[in-house]
Amino acid sequence: MGGSRRTAGRRAAATVGCGGGTGRGHRPLVGVLALQGAFAEHASALAAVGAEPVLVRTASGLDGVDAVVLPGGESTTMSKLLDTSGLREPLSRALGGGMPAFGTCAGLILLARSVADGRPDQRSFGVLDVAVLRNGYGRQRESFEAAVAIDAVGEAPFPGVFIRAPRITSVGEAVTVLASVDGDPVLVCQGPLLAAAFHPELAGDLRLHHLFVHRVLERV
Ligand code: GLN
Repeated sequence: MGGSRRTAGRRAAATVGCGGGTGRGHRPLVGVLALQGAFAEHASALAAVGAEPVLVRTASGLDGVDAVVLPGGESTTMSKLLDTSGLREPLSRALGGGMPAFGTCAGLILLARSVADGRPDQRSFGVLDVAVLRNGYGRQRESFEAAVAIDAVGEAPFPGVFIRAPRITSVGEAVTVLASVDGDPVLVCQGPLLAAAFHPELAGDLRLHHLFVHRVLERV
């Protein structure tokens, strides 16, 4: 995307650094959607695992990014702000074109093919073949923590912070379930997309950001 010097330079670096797809020596530029929600925490986590985070609030903020993170927060508000900021179309195009993305909680809702119990005017990008139920863990379990077993990041359980989390109610064939809690998928991937019903950016555990950046490096 874009034709800035930074873009050109980064692409050149990627070509040199990614010989054989290892990506060694390349610091991917990861745009963090910063319209609302827990974007600052994602940016810190990304920097801590060796990526270069950039806060994205306008279409030009997407110039040169290798990947995007859609944070937790409030999907209805983010949906509105995607329209008023002019980010909806360029982000939709980037995601449709295969840009790697990591969506967490509200970010998962924004990626999902189908959203139940959303506001009538809220719209998602529809690139991740899952159906979600907003606030699907009900009142009693509105917010909770669960130890999430994720083989892809090692043996120690991941501290899953669920805050009015969406429940994934069905997944399409192209989706791989990486972790479940009480039988419900809570971490999934599909090609370049990774999505969690919980908030890894609030967990004080960098393993999922590490996994995401690793996946990005394999693709750039
Ligand atoms: N319930 C929120 C929504 O519908 C998501 C909650 C979160 O991101 N912590 O957007």
